[in-house]
Amino acid sequence: MRTKKGLKRYFSILEGEEKAKYLLCENLDEKIKSAEEIMRSCHFCERRCGANRTDGRRGYCGVLESRIASEFVHYGEEPELIPSYTIFFSGCTFKCVYCQNWDISQYPERGVHIRPMTLASMISRARAINVNWVGGDPTPNIFYILEVLRYSERNIPQIWNSNMYLTEESMRLLDGVIDLYLTDFKYGNDQCAWRLSNVKNYTEIIKRNHKIAEKQGEVIIRHLVLPGHLECCTKPILRWISENLKSVRVNIMEQYHPEYRAMEYDELRRRLTYEEFQEAVKFGEDLGLDLVE
Ligand code: SF4
Repeated sequence: MRTKKGLKRYFSILEGEEKAKYLLCENLDEKIKSAEEIMRSCHFCERRCGANRTDGRRGYCGVLESRIASEFVHYGEEPELIPSYTIFFSGCTFKCVYCQNWDISQYPERGVHIRPMTLASMISRARAINVNWVGGDPTPNIFYILEVLRYSERNIPQIWNSNMYLTEESMRLLDGVIDLYLTDFKYGNDQCAWRLSNVKNYTEIIKRNHKIAEKQGEVIIRHLVLPGHLECCTKPILRWISENLKSVRVNIMEQYHPEYRAMEYDELRRRLTYEEFQEAVKFGEDLGLDLVE
């Protein structure tokens, strides 16, 4: 059985015993320059659209300048993460047919642009214990996030809350900046990823990035159990985690409900049953995973 390793560094930052990584980062300006270069031929995510977003060209996600749909102190996250200052970007690199945030993720033009210096000041005043970069997905906004951090001074953990479809170049930009990766691991095979999120090479990219994330910071993996996807997705994902990652926490989530275009897909028209969720949790427990309670 695995032991509960918890989030040692994360809690040390909360106690003021250690500094958030971005405060120790010596090459933040270099990272910002590299991020700007990436945005000129966008390859923040593995779609690698190549769009020059600084010149008004949109890629698949449709994000140009970063727009924030909402930002607030969130109490709906894992117990160890609340209260969390959650920043929801408009736009996403995925098109999940059951997206629970589709009114944000599929409308990159919604929300407002907040100047980096202003958001840094809002972070400094937030009554929260961490900063939670999410969306949609934060990936198209790496340049902006790094700029915000250039103006920030508060010792507060930075959370990367993402679908993890980043390029290796983007993962390098996050190295030494992000303290905790709060990831979505959605599918156990590429067919489901293509059918439900319009994503190619899902498993190879997501597995690679989880291995990188574990080296770069602490990790909590979220897996939303989809009805009818226990055998093809939930069990292969949990098995892979148990065989390949050593010190991650796993949150098996039961709150699926049909949203957005889910009613067009037979198996997604209903909620998860109690039995399906219990089977998923039992499977994770039997593998000895460190499950979020
Ligand atoms: S972040 Fe957006 S524009 Fe950039 S590669 Fe990904 S989908 Fe394309």
